[in-house]
Amino acid sequence: MPKTNLNQRSAIIAGSQGFRIVQKLSGGEMIEPVLTPFGFSPPIHKVSLPDLEVYVLSRHGETGYNVSAPFVNYRANIWALKELGVTKIIAWSGPGAIDPSIPIGDLLIPNDIIDETKGRSETFYEGLGIGFIRQNPVFCPELVSNLRRVIEAQQGHCRTSDVYVCTQGPRLETRAEIRKFAGYGATLVGMTLVPEAFLAKELEMCYCPICYVTNYAEGVVERQYEPGKLFEGLLSDDEKARVDAAVESLPDIAIEALRASIDSTECRCRLSMERYRRRGDIGEDWHTWIKQ
Ligand SMILES: [Zn+2]
Repeated sequence: MPKTNLNQRSAIIAGSQGFRIVQKLSGGEMIEPVLTPFGFSPPIHKVSLPDLEVYVLSRHGETGYNVSAPFVNYRANIWALKELGVTKIIAWSGPGAIDPSIPIGDLLIPNDIIDETKGRSETFYEGLGIGFIRQNPVFCPELVSNLRRVIEAQQGHCRTSDVYVCTQGPRLETRAEIRKFAGYGATLVGMTLVPEAFLAKELEMCYCPICYVTNYAEGVVERQYEPGKLFEGLLSDDEKARVDAAVESLPDIAIEALRASIDSTECRCRLSMERYRRRGDIGEDWHTWIKQ
């Protein structure tokens, strides 16, 4: 008999191209958008498996790339998943590589973040005096461990020590910015993990990204400017085919890693606000932690 623990609901936050895969995965089963203090959530799809219930949310919209990274309502997304009872999230993101040794189309799990976004709403706790939360490890170690095993089985290897710098967008970065980020120790550059990862931690949820590398960042390899093409020439046709194959594999990988994580309770993600709970600053009901 399959292991069933529907109290442990999981979620996938799907990135670019997610809208195509999400509908295929869920067979069209959707729930009503969730009303949050930050507006309505986007549509959320429900994938009912015999042993697992997974909610899937397409970060950039339902029909294409309608919502670019700076305009995603990250707080509504995370709040809605928490409201649905989700405890574990795997989120996919397609960064560019600053380290030229990373193959295009590679699947990997970064292990740290540098925040270079500007003006995004990064916390649920504005003006509340709470939220000093340690960020080491940034991502849930149990999800990382399970996801790593699944990626290794599929791809033969899995990098787990990359540093992801998150830029504001929607524009791509300049060459000088990429040189600066390389100097910081960043090996990947994307636009979506901030503030998503930090918001999940504020609500004591397990969160782990899976990245598929989409292109080399500006100046890392020389590419002709090609108007009208995706990334205007930063990506060759052969590389695009590899990226598409990587994206197709993401849902199965994420589900397998979530399945392996159903009963894991070793990580401390659910205790990230414990200091405030012990001190009596917050109660047991997480809704009351946030000014409504
Ligand atoms: Zn965790």
